[in-house]
Amino acid sequence: MKADPTLQRRLVDLAELDLRLGSLDHRRRSLPEQATVDTLEAERRAAVESAARARIHVEDLDRAIAKLSSDLDAVRRRRESDSAALAAGGLSDRQATELEYELASLHRRQENLEAELSELTERHEAVDADVRHSGAIITDLDARLGMATTVRDTALAHLEDSVTATTAERARQAEDLPADLLDLYTRSAQQAGVGAAILNGGRCSACAIDLDRTTVAAFRTAPADDVLTCPECGVIVVRTANS
Ligand SMILES: [Zn+2]
Repeated sequence: MKADPTLQRRLVDLAELDLRLGSLDHRRRSLPEQATVDTLEAERRAAVESAARARIHVEDLDRAIAKLSSDLDAVRRRRESDSAALAAGGLSDRQATELEYELASLHRRQENLEAELSELTERHEAVDADVRHSGAIITDLDARLGMATTVRDTALAHLEDSVTATTAERARQAEDLPADLLDLYTRSAQQAGVGAAILNGGRCSACAIDLDRTTVAAFRTAPADDVLTCPECGVIVVRTANS
C-alpha cells in the first residue's frame, strides 16, 4: 500500500490519541471516586438490613410483651376473685384450703410472669436503641453518600470532557486519511492493540523488538510512500529521520 509520508505520520498521532482514549476509558472504569460510592452503598445496604432485623425483633418483642401482659392480667383477676371468695366466707374447710393453695400458686405464677415481663421490657429498650442507632448510621451514610456522589460526578464530568475533546481531535486527525490506510490502521489496532508505531532506529516501538538487519535495510531503502508493517507484531511502522 502507498501513502504520503505525512499521512503515515498522522497515523502515529492517531495511535497516540487512541492510547489516550483507552487510558481515559480505563480511568473511567477504575475511578477511585466510584469505589468510594460503591463502598458507602454497600455499608448503607448492610445498615438498612440491620435496621430491618432490629425492627422485626422489636415487633416480636411487642407481641411477646402483649401476650405476657394479658396472661398477667388474667392471673391478677383470678387472684382478686379467689381472695374475694375467701373473704366472703361461707366456704367449707376443704374449699377454703383449695382456694388458699390456688392463691399461693397464682402468686408464684404472677411473680414469674412479672420477672419475665421485666426482662422482655429491658430487651425491648435495648433493641429500640439498636433501631435508633441504625437510623443514625443510615442518616450519616446518606450524607456521606451524597457528598461522595457529587465528587464522583465531578470526576466523571472531567473525564467526559477529556473524552469529548480527544474524540473530536481524533475525528479531525482521521478526517481526510485515505479509507484503505485507515482500514489497515483499524485492523492493526484491533489485532495488536496499536494502530501504528514509529520505527525507532531498527526497533518497532509497538512490540519493542529490534528487527533483523535485512528487514531494517529493506525498510530504509523502500520508497518513502510505501506503507510498511512490522513483521513481528503486524503494526504499521512509520519511518522518521531516526529510523
Ligand atoms: Zn512490532
